[in-house]
Amino acid sequence: MRITVLRLGHRPERDKRITTHVGLVARAFGADEILIDGRDEGVVESLRDVVNRWGGSFSVADGIVWKDELRRFRDSGGKIVHLTMYGSRIDDVIGEIRSCERIMVVVGAEKVPPDVYNIADWNVAVGNQPHSEVAALAVFLDRLFMGKELNRDFGGRLEVIPAARGKVVLDKKL
Ligand code: SAM
Repeated sequence: MRITVLRLGHRPERDKRITTHVGLVARAFGADEILIDGRDEGVVESLRDVVNRWGGSFSVADGIVWKDELRRFRDSGGKIVHLTMYGSRIDDVIGEIRSCERIMVVVGAEKVPPDVYNIADWNVAVGNQPHSEVAALAVFLDRLFMGKELNRDFGGRLEVIPAARGKVVLDKKL
């Protein structure tokens, strides 16, 4: 399955850290790309830097027009999953979503426009309490992949050798 994450409503003056974390979680938990609504070269650079050092083929784009992206994605046969505390229970819909070939997972910042709820194939709640886009995305992807994404080999220059204590990192360029 190919997974695009769409980060809505990024405000460069206050969301740099959280949007970076959305991107890091997207990559580490098995998504293929992130599209950021809004321009932020700093966020894009820091995510690309992680990909360069830690591997994988995760791609990053900012300054996208979210309505156009959602329409284009839907019209090309992809399915849209909007993560929101108001949505259906994740356990009720994850099986259906797992059978899709391509999904776009939408996460918001503050208030998400009503159009997003309408265009989504599924509005999905990770619990019906307010929390965070980072947590919602991590739990969603983990449920989607049933935990298997955590053992994926990213083939990067840097690789952690799991250790009970301390930090062991292999740098393949040395
Ligand atoms: N009240 C806001 C709204 O209108 O959606 C919540 C904003 S919340 C700080 C930012 C994002 O986190 C939301 O747009 C949603 O994507 C995600 N989120 C927060 N709680 C969630 C939950 N329980 N289930 C799924 N997604 C959630």
